[in-house]
Amino acid sequence: MEQNKITIERDKKVALVAHDNKKQDLVEWAKYNKVLLAHHTIYATGTTGTLLEKELGFPIHKLESGPLGGDQQIGAKIVDGDIDFLIFFWDPLEPMSHDPDIKALLRMAVVWNIPIACNRATADFMISSPLMDEEYDRLLPEYDEYRQRMTSD
Ligand code: PGA
Repeated sequence: MEQNKITIERDKKVALVAHDNKKQDLVEWAKYNKVLLAHHTIYATGTTGTLLEKELGFPIHKLESGPLGGDQQIGAKIVDGDIDFLIFFWDPLEPMSHDPDIKALLRMAVVWNIPIACNRATADFMISSPLMDEEYDRLLPEYDEYRQRMTSD
């Protein structure tokens, strides 16, 4: 199957999201990695973003709170190419009102082949990768074949 490439630039567009029981974890992780994060553009869901902005001291593009549509906004930005890196500490022990949105966000990250970390260990490996400071071509299937599946003769 043919592959397309979309370049993740050296300065990445990073989304940070954490469920309530994981927010402390994400704040600690982000503070520890503050210098490494500083040259990237950071997006976050509403509550996560407000906490992070206070702790990190640099501006964060805050979207709506997750349960009010913030996860969906991040998903849409992934589709539009406006977010290309996701750290999402979701809570595996609590039921969530917006479970379908969470699943949709994780699905979009896979459809568009962006790096995602769902726990701190993975986030540590990702942030310390040499690829963090380089351009990276993410490969995508030739989705035009899918788009045109019912329309060609
Ligand atoms: P929040 O949303 O940052 O507004 O708490 C996170 C989420 O539940 O997805």
